[in-house]
Amino acid sequence: MAEVLVVGSGAAGVHYALSALERGYRVTMLDVGYERPASVAPEASFLELREQLPDPLTYFLGERGKGVVYPGVGASYYGLPPSKEYVFRIPEAHRTRSRGITPSQSFARGGLAEAWTAGSYTWDDHDLADAPIGYDDLRPHYAEVAERIGVGGADDDLAEFIPFDAPYLPPLDPDPHSALLLRRYAKRRERLHRKLGFYMGRSRVATLSRPHRGRHGCAQLGRCLWGCPNEALYSPLFTLRECQAHPAFDYRPGVLVTHVEFGDDGRATAVVGRRAGERVRIATERVVLAAGALGSTRIVLDSRYRHHGRIETATGLMDNRQVHVPFLTWSRMGAEVETASYQFHHLAFGIRRPDPRDYVHGQITTLRAAALHPIVQNLPLDTPSALAVFQRLRGGLAVANVNLRDTRRADSIATLRPGPEGDPGELVLDYVSAPTEADAAARAVADLKRALRHLGCWVPPGMTRTLPKGTSVHYAGTLPMTPRPEPLGTDADGRLWEHPNLFVVDGAVLPALPAKNHTFTLMANAARVAARTLPRR
Ligand SMILES: Cc1cc2nc3c(=O)[nH]c(=O)nc-3n(C[C@H](O)[C@H](O)[C@H](O)COP(=O)(O)OP(=O)(O)OC[C@H]3O[C@@H](n4cnc5c(N)ncnc54)[C@H](O)[C@@H]3O)c2cc1C
Ligand code: SF4
Repeated sequence: MAEVLVVGSGAAGVHYALSALERGYRVTMLDVGYERPASVAPEASFLELREQLPDPLTYFLGERGKGVVYPGVGASYYGLPPSKEYVFRIPEAHRTRSRGITPSQSFARGGLAEAWTAGSYTWDDHDLADAPIGYDDLRPHYAEVAERIGVGGADDDLAEFIPFDAPYLPPLDPDPHSALLLRRYAKRRERLHRKLGFYMGRSRVATLSRPHRGRHGCAQLGRCLWGCPNEALYSPLFTLRECQAHPAFDYRPGVLVTHVEFGDDGRATAVVGRRAGERVRIATERVVLAAGALGSTRIVLDSRYRHHGRIETATGLMDNRQVHVPFLTWSRMGAEVETASYQFHHLAFGIRRPDPRDYVHGQITTLRAAALHPIVQNLPLDTPSALAVFQRLRGGLAVANVNLRDTRRADSIATLRPGPEGDPGELVLDYVSAPTEADAAARAVADLKRALRHLGCWVPPGMTRTLPKGTSVHYAGTLPMTPRPEPLGTDADGRLWEHPNLFVVDGAVLPALPAKNHTFTLMANAARVAARTLPRR
């Protein structure tokens, strides 16, 4: 019999597992666990890779150009390359249907964070206002996780909104464009604070500026989007590796969990799944779901349906609204661009709001080696002219990614369509945006544009993109921590009220979703739940 059985090797699952192992427990982890392909030419920079690969086009753009991002009303300014296809591969038996949201799910070893951009931000008491826990409950676990994964950051103006008291590493050296924006911000900051409530600083990223826990510091290879070959960019795989070095850890990939079995008293007794078409059943003392907010919700709904025969509806599905705002810094036009450099954001910003829970959060990525087709193709010119203009503009181009908070609402739901015996039930999602969201997004973008003007930047008309719901991949809220027992709620430790040995440690338990990216909080909360519910042996 398993002592602690964790489902999922993503950010939440591995930090729960490592904490449980450190506290003296035996941990079994079930996972579909599609594997990352081996890195090609790990020492090569972006340009060297282009020269060394026998078929660079297929590596960068995929067979038949599948990895090209085409322009469109909803198109993002970032695309995902073919080398990341394994992250979003879906097992044949797993089905989701959705309306109002386009969800991304991962069955990879390491989960969605195999493709993330590593933005790692602590939440404060305003962000946690709807939760039965506060910042002080998470503080030691933010510190613990920051030490495990290595987060770079600076104690700057953003610390007023994003507490800065974990053991952060120095941030990466900013690229010249980001450094210029920071210098301009420093000269105008008081005016920007007073007039617009606009604050800027370094983004906090789980990318190593120096060697840490056996991993290399960033070598500025410029291959972040295709997959960092030297482990500078954090992935849960590295924490999984630490777990695997532990004799009390048993990792079992290749298992698609369908449901949990319960006894008459509601306690979980076993986890059931499929491996290569065969049924797998593992008896256990405790189950910890870390299958991603959507995956864990599906497992809970399916398990309860098989137990009592009722199809239930989980309310409160959330995801941040994201808006991409491309802009140009005039004085950088014609400047050289170093393609062998870190590709993701160096800068973050916040916009203060009268209600602190409405704080707007964003990150700025200056464009270097990333695929840029949507910008080129959106220019009102033929392609050769657009490319020529683009070469000239490139040194001054950047994209601000604006994030808005989301709240739980009764009309945004997740429910189940039961599948044939042995198959997982189908997850059905129906998302309805908050009626105030479009106005909040328009205000945030207007304030950002004003702030950018103060920084000497120009936002070209018609290129701002409101991304479809689901694109931020910050799903949450369907099995929330509730102050009182509810059938699909959990207590403050993520324990389902009706199933005392079944825990959920991913985004499903969050009762609110502030604008700041949530994965650092998921990892810290998973470590917190392990610490609170597993007495040290
Ligand atoms: C392009 C991109 C950029 C992002 N950037 C950021 C960022 O900068 N900052 C940030 O905070 N977040 C970011 N995110 C979101 C972040 O990646 C996720 O919030 C985080 O990885 C979720 O972790 P998780 O552990 O909850 O679940 P997941 O990562 O979804 O992991 C789920 C795990 O469960 C397993 N699993 C699922 N169902 C089953 C089943 N039925 N049986 C067995 N195993 C199962 C999977 O194999 C996987 O291992 C980004 C995401 C993407 C895609
Ligand atoms: S994080 Fe990006 S720039 Fe740094 S070493 Fe990895 S691929 Fe290269």
